Amino acid sequence: MSDSVVSDSVVIVGAGPVGLMLAHELALAGVRAVVIERSPEIDDRTVSGLIHARSVELLEQRGLMEPLRREHGEPLVWDRLHFASFWLDMSELAETDHSVVLLQNHIQRVLSDHAAARGVRILRRHELIGLSQDEEGVTARVRSPLGEEEIRCRYLVGCDGEDSAVRELAGFAVTRSGPSWYGLLADVGSYAGPVGAGSFHEGGMFGQFGDASTMFRLMTIEIGVEAPPPDRPVTLDEVRASIERITGERPTVEEPLWLRRHGNVTILADHYRNGRVFLAGDAAHFQFHPAGHAVTIGLQDAVNLGWKLAADVQDRAPAGLLDTYEAERRPYGRRACVYGRAQMALLDTADGPSALREVFGELLDHEVVNRHLVRAATDARHPAGGGDGLLGRRVPLVRLGTAGGEVPVADTLHAARGVLLDLSGGAEPPDVTGWKDRVDVVAAEPAPEIPASAVLVRPDGHIAWAGETAAAAGGLRPALAAWFGEPAE
Ligand SMILES: Cc1cc2nc3c(=O)[nH]c(=O)nc-3n(C[C@H](O)[C@H](O)[C@H](O)COP(=O)(O)OP(=O)(O)OC[C@H]3O[C@@H](n4cnc5c(N)ncnc54)[C@H](O)[C@@H]3O)c2cc1C
Repeated sequence: MSDSVVSDSVVIVGAGPVGLMLAHELALAGVRAVVIERSPEIDDRTVSGLIHARSVELLEQRGLMEPLRREHGEPLVWDRLHFASFWLDMSELAETDHSVVLLQNHIQRVLSDHAAARGVRILRRHELIGLSQDEEGVTARVRSPLGEEEIRCRYLVGCDGEDSAVRELAGFAVTRSGPSWYGLLADVGSYAGPVGAGSFHEGGMFGQFGDASTMFRLMTIEIGVEAPPPDRPVTLDEVRASIERITGERPTVEEPLWLRRHGNVTILADHYRNGRVFLAGDAAHFQFHPAGHAVTIGLQDAVNLGWKLAADVQDRAPAGLLDTYEAERRPYGRRACVYGRAQMALLDTADGPSALREVFGELLDHEVVNRHLVRAATDARHPAGGGDGLLGRRVPLVRLGTAGGEVPVADTLHAARGVLLDLSGGAEPPDVTGWKDRVDVVAAEPAPEIPASAVLVRPDGHIAWAGETAAAAGGLRPALAAWFGEPAE
């Protein structure tokens, strides 16, 4: 065993946005986390750039939007979200639902810097090649330029993306569908040929985005065409031929920046936990990437798992807390996969799906349909609450009036601890005796956006209890015990 052996820590495999977010969450809670990542550096040719407002809230509640704004300016807000070849219109929902243009590499860099500053070890050029687990912990076998070594930890989390080695090595069963098409993505510096964000043809779909001032992104989807073997590099000729087969027009494509094939595989892990090993992000649920929700759902996984793992590692978790991760998050991973597959069906150029596409387009004129699709996978409720109540919803990140001045709710969550917002204006201070070491109390004036005299907010920002009525007040102590463990003597 090497000097990397750590017995009280969590090993995270993968320094994508999800692994880094989880590492930062654990570090906030004071848990030693080690990230192993095979690539030498953050990939600056990032492909993802559109995240949902729910992601911004997660970054905001940890104080991470501030450095992103400082370094890259106020991100562009957009009232659109793509769904298959359609745009969902969020102009009516703009205050709570919108897309934000934030490059994935920028998010990763900020997360990486902040996690490292809090003591997370990020071991680059380290690849997971084996793992085993027993009752006390997990042993990860890792290969680096210095050779092979073993890292021992209490828990290991696979945030290693679509082709997750953790998923494979720990024996997670998956439900998989596809591929049923062959597609190409090409970022190029020079392009002349068919234009338009998405045109349907008998043989498939072609999309051209961007322009010479930035770069051109070309996308093809062909039905019934076999993809070349995966080990054959993508060439410009392959891109030209695909566009020609679809549109009937031979384009000029030069100056390749980034070329890759994409299919429409959907992978959903049957479980997110196997003993001491967990999955999060694309490793747990991988769906067609233009679904536009992937980063958001992955960050939600990380923030849901982080505080629960921390409580367990620090021996203060109530019974069953760690199992709530899969119970709460897998339904949303499944949803993302189902909605991804539905989008693939809508992109099929066969006769039936073409008719379905026309009908679907008409349905989108109805605001209720539009709203449902915008929120279906990302508007998570933890714990699953019923009806219109506050239980399970994310606490609105409004500004509260306190004795010391205005305090943004987001600031009260920076430390990733439980927070009891006493909104009674001093009339009925709730009793948290026995939990003050785990739960902060913030007393403020009543807030119209949070219609309750008090709310208990979990470290992930979800409302675990709301004193919406006088009768509910008796439920506070059971809620504190259920989420934060028994009271201290
Ligand atoms: C073209 C394209 C456009 C996209 N656009 C968007 C978008 O606009 N909005 C959006 O929300 N999503 C988008 N996505 C999806 C988004 O990029 C992914 O969902 C996101 O990267 C998943 O994050 P992750 O941390 O789960 O996994 P990843 O980002 O895949 O990170 C996994 C990491 O694990 C590492 N790794 C893998 N195996 C090992 C191993 N054995 N040992 C050590 N390290 C390992 C990898 O090197 C990688 O760094 C897009 C994807 C593509 C391909």
